Amino acid sequence: MPEVNSTLYRSRGLARTCPDCRAVVRDGVIAHDETCPIARIIEAVKRSDANTFLEDTALTQFLRLVTVAEIQEAAIFGDDISGCDAILVTNLGGGFRLRQPVIIRDAS
Ligand SMILES: [Zn+2]
Repeated sequence: MPEVNSTLYRSRGLARTCPDCRAVVRDGVIAHDETCPIARIIEAVKRSDANTFLEDTALTQFLRLVTVAEIQEAAIFGDDISGCDAILVTNLGGGFRLRQPVIIRDAS
């Protein structure tokens, strides 16, 4: 596995509103409109991540491509993950998963 750097986050800027449904971050949480395309894609990605672990119960971690919706959602919270190469998804157990934007470096 290539070396990954999960300490990518740049300094947090001010939280913004969703560019699609105009929802606002309150107390660190955003409640998108149910028709919001960003929220729908994020939910689909989360389901796909969960299914990956259900299909391979020995798997504890995997890398996948970053979706544009994840870049947009991070930006709503003031984070710029547009320069990351992948999302490292870790199964924490109990139905919880950790998603970390990472930069991949060639260790050679
Ligand atoms: Zn939205």
